[in-house]
Amino acid sequence: MIPYGRQDISQQDIEAVIGVLKSDFLTQGPKVPAFEQSVMDACDAKYALAVNSATSALHIACLALDLGEGDWLWTTPNTFVASANCGLYCGAHVDFVDIDSRTYNLCPQALEKKLIAAEKIGKLPKVVVPVHFSGQPCDMQAIYNLSKKYGFKIIEDASHAIGGKYQGEPIGNCRYSDITVFSFHPVKIVTTAEGGMAITNSSELATKLELLRSHGITRDTSLMTKTADGPWYYEQIDLGLNYRMTDLQAALGVSQMQRLDSFVTKRHELAQRYNELLRDLPITLPWQHDDSYSGLHLYVIRLQLDKINKTHLEVFEGMRAAGILVNLHYIPVHMQPYYQELGFEVGQFPQAEQYYKEAISIPMFPAMTEEQQNEVVTKLKELLI
Ligand SMILES: *Cc1c(COP(=O)(O)O)cnc(C)c1O
Repeated sequence: MIPYGRQDISQQDIEAVIGVLKSDFLTQGPKVPAFEQSVMDACDAKYALAVNSATSALHIACLALDLGEGDWLWTTPNTFVASANCGLYCGAHVDFVDIDSRTYNLCPQALEKKLIAAEKIGKLPKVVVPVHFSGQPCDMQAIYNLSKKYGFKIIEDASHAIGGKYQGEPIGNCRYSDITVFSFHPVKIVTTAEGGMAITNSSELATKLELLRSHGITRDTSLMTKTADGPWYYEQIDLGLNYRMTDLQAALGVSQMQRLDSFVTKRHELAQRYNELLRDLPITLPWQHDDSYSGLHLYVIRLQLDKINKTHLEVFEGMRAAGILVNLHYIPVHMQPYYQELGFEVGQFPQAEQYYKEAISIPMFPAMTEEQQNEVVTKLKELLI
């Protein structure tokens, strides 16, 4: 069986985790700041807060930006549900902006059109969450320019994109956003089993994020409202959560970060090879903007259904039956029953819906062998021609 994505765990990773098990701190120890530092170094960012998932990072990012009841959060329908759910957690309304048919990312032109309409009815978003789908950076410059004109904040959901670059600079440097979020789930580029991180260059936002991930509690006397009763003293000054990452996870993260570049390079080699081997098939291959370097979390093909005598489902099932665990990213979020209950309807975001009828994520992960890749290619050819 060939999975669509898989973690890459080395002996060094294993020893790093065992080292923590034998140490004094399983959580709230030195590995968490070390992991945060390694991500800050890789991203050229000033502050990083490790948490227990990207979902948690998105939640506290929204809270730190004061998203609340009556506010709007906009994101792309072509994402994992967490990019939208974070708005609902805060009591805000969620809406979507359709995707660009080439990058499958939130389309800046569609965003501008929707902003013009929203301004007229006084429903401008407070937060926009662009998602760097498959690792390809969104057109952040255009989205940033719109944020200045219409006054919204930006959270980059970079769950697919650590190790990627936009305009020659690392994803996560927050040049065009307030906060960037990474995921370290095992299928993503770097893993801590479960885990996430919120990155920012704002000291004010970093302070809020740090409070929110751990109950709203501080031991920093400069943040306290009263004088300390004694050395045991701490204050709760906000309503936070327990979203902390453990030192076991952070140690794995530190070790994995040392291989970040080699992981992404390997993904590029595999993608390049797919590009050549699949060139003549009736499918659309991933398109790469020349201003950017993708983290390449996913390799998505789109079937040209008018040139194939099989359905999307038949191709998908044919691959799965051959032990090739293709996947589909994503079912448009507005088509989920929960979102349909909120009033969204099929037909509202036609580009994302059309994409969903044709897309298949084929296997790609650093430990994938040429033989495995050939197997995927051979099976696809058999099904498509
Ligand atoms: C994986 C993913 C998330 C959620 O990540 P977790 O760490 O599992 O919470 C959010 N957004 C996108 C785009 C993702 O791919």
